[in-house]
Amino acid sequence: MSGPTQLLDESPLLDRVQAPAGQGREILDAATREVVGHAPVHTAADLDAAVAAAKAAQPAWAGLGHERRSALLLEAADAIEAHAEPLARLLSREQGKPLNGPNARFEVGACATWLRAAATTPLEPEILVDDETGHAELVYRPVGVVGAIGPWNWPLMIGIWQIAPSLRMGNTVVVKPSEHTPLSVLAMAAVLNDVLPDGVLAAVSGEREVGAGLAAHPDVDKVMFTGSTATGRKIVEASAGNLARLTLELGGNDAGIVLPGTDPKAIAQDLFWGAFINTGQTCAALKRLYVHDEIYEDVVAELAALAEGTPMGNGLDEDNVLGPLQNAQQYDIVRSLVDDARERGGRVVAGGGPAPELGPLFYRATIVADVADGVPLVDEEQFGPALPVIRYSDVDDAVASANRLDAGLGASVWSADRDAAREVAARLQAGTVWINGHGGLHPMVPFGGVKGSGYGLEFGIEGLKSVAVPQVISG
Ligand code: NAD
Repeated sequence: MSGPTQLLDESPLLDRVQAPAGQGREILDAATREVVGHAPVHTAADLDAAVAAAKAAQPAWAGLGHERRSALLLEAADAIEAHAEPLARLLSREQGKPLNGPNARFEVGACATWLRAAATTPLEPEILVDDETGHAELVYRPVGVVGAIGPWNWPLMIGIWQIAPSLRMGNTVVVKPSEHTPLSVLAMAAVLNDVLPDGVLAAVSGEREVGAGLAAHPDVDKVMFTGSTATGRKIVEASAGNLARLTLELGGNDAGIVLPGTDPKAIAQDLFWGAFINTGQTCAALKRLYVHDEIYEDVVAELAALAEGTPMGNGLDEDNVLGPLQNAQQYDIVRSLVDDARERGGRVVAGGGPAPELGPLFYRATIVADVADGVPLVDEEQFGPALPVIRYSDVDDAVASANRLDAGLGASVWSADRDAAREVAARLQAGTVWINGHGGLHPMVPFGGVKGSGYGLEFGIEGLKSVAVPQVISG
């Protein structure tokens, strides 16, 4: 591991990864719109070279064995922690998320946690038959070269979710960060590469064509993709060419259902952060909330008070826990969905418009009551700080509403009655259903979507298996 342990400023790290002066693509601070740095723009030839290096390095990396690879991943986790503050600052500037709250420092901390979990989770051979009829066991071998393609909302954490298990299982990785947040991912890769052998991890930076080139590359054996459902479909098409195995973590439109008899005050904070974590730019955030008529107004009032009272602003200011939208496209989506909901009769009880005094991409934390299924703010993924709250009187109707969309990443049920909540949870079509919480993840608990939210699992033993190929040893 290299570098001092108490680095605070992001500029040395940035200088290691950005394009030479006068070259590359400008990356703006999401809060101030000042230039953070210049991302290299890699070409098709750069991509080919990165994949070729990864392919060449893979047999020796696999040959190191689990123990040595895991030891290196633990060192890599230490290296991330040694650079935690500059990584968090760079992430905060580029992505917009504040240092504090469930945001930039939290994200960098999670990278170390997930690296350690991938390094220390055992994956033993499975004995399938061992009796007078014979012996057969299932072992997990590396797939080869993994292409890791990520989004802009949690760029470091999602990058590690793809990189850590892949490396642990003896694969090499070429990572392609989102064109909106390349610098922080390149910086993290540089920190990891202080520890890893050459060729084991490469980062290529560029627009969507670079992602498309990686997904379709003949020498890529597995694609880990996190991003929109539309791009996910293109990756499935690309896999017809190289037959790459796929893990697809796609968009979500998670529903939460608050059952009658629930105390609004007791759940308000967790509901709020379930929806507004990372200023709503989270795949498995609560994106539409169904509340029983009996407690509807009280839940709406609690959420409105939190939305109005939670500090928003520049992420480097230690007081703020909500930030801007990361980019203008997403800002426009949120703004038009809320305007449209208002025009259709939605009651805006908090926020409801831009916060230009904070910067051009800030939009106030918004709660919209009295909306119904069919309103685009309910039916489409807003991916920002605006939560629609829908009234229901029959739990069966709320379950039907939750299940009616082609998305199934997460869902939640809120009630003091655990049995009632579990009964409703069992009827929801989602990869994860949380009870009295939303979006909490654990490195040992598999995570993945159903329906339009994709397929394949990440984390824990299932996550390791998904970046490996099963092999039967028989006899
Ligand atoms: P996006 O699909 O636009 O881009 C994601 C990545 O794919 C980027 O790196 C992009 O350059 C690349 N890409 C674009 N076209 C490509 C192609 N044809 N082939 C290969 N790669 C291509 O998504 P985004 O806007 O960055 O992210 C937001 C979306 O991601 C939201 O829908 C959100 O719900 C989803 N998301 C899902 C999860 C999850 O775990 N399920 C997590 C975070 C975000």
